[in-house]
Amino acid sequence: MARYTEARCRLCRREGVKLYLKGDRCYSNRCAMERRNFPPGQHGRARRKVTEYALQLREKQKLRRIYGVLEAQFRNYFEKAERQRGITGENLLRLLERRLDNVVYRLGLASSRAEARQLVRHGHFQVNGRKVNIPSYLVRVGDRISVAANSKESPRIKELMERAAQNTPPAWLSYDADAATGEVLAYPARDQIDVPVREHLIVELYSR
Ligand code: SF4
Repeated sequence: MARYTEARCRLCRREGVKLYLKGDRCYSNRCAMERRNFPPGQHGRARRKVTEYALQLREKQKLRRIYGVLEAQFRNYFEKAERQRGITGENLLRLLERRLDNVVYRLGLASSRAEARQLVRHGHFQVNGRKVNIPSYLVRVGDRISVAANSKESPRIKELMERAAQNTPPAWLSYDADAATGEVLAYPARDQIDVPVREHLIVELYSR
């Protein structure tokens, strides 16, 4: 499956905000945004006139990069969000939050969405007792996400289970540390999705 492979810290520097793409490093002083908080490249520090289009484009790129979704797939999410009832921008965020890799990350069972994606692909998680290795799988209310029994002995998974036991998931999820199982209690409301994005700008961009 296609994925974005460019240096991830450059993406944060381009967007001017921490996107938390590298797990624990993002919380340390090795974070590139702590040391070089300006856009990458030769003209990174140059002043530029910011057009409305540029603002909209940056918001879209930021959101896409936070969830690690490529352009075509992102467009599909947007079209799906448009077809749903309610506010398109919020629908879009809700769809992205419901991705299985994001849920694993939110439960604390991965240090970043990129790690969550890899662990899901490697078959370390089950949904309602069945192995699901598709990171974009959309969870539903009532779904139970658990660590696969034969993965519980993996040193990294053990570490992550300890991490998840200390983690407080967002209110739309719950986590039972003893069973290493999370549950989707509801779909997230906008104020439960802590991504620094003005989604209305993305809607405006695609409405051009
Ligand atoms: Fe972004 Fe994390 Fe790199 Fe910091 S360490 S620039 S938050 S990816």
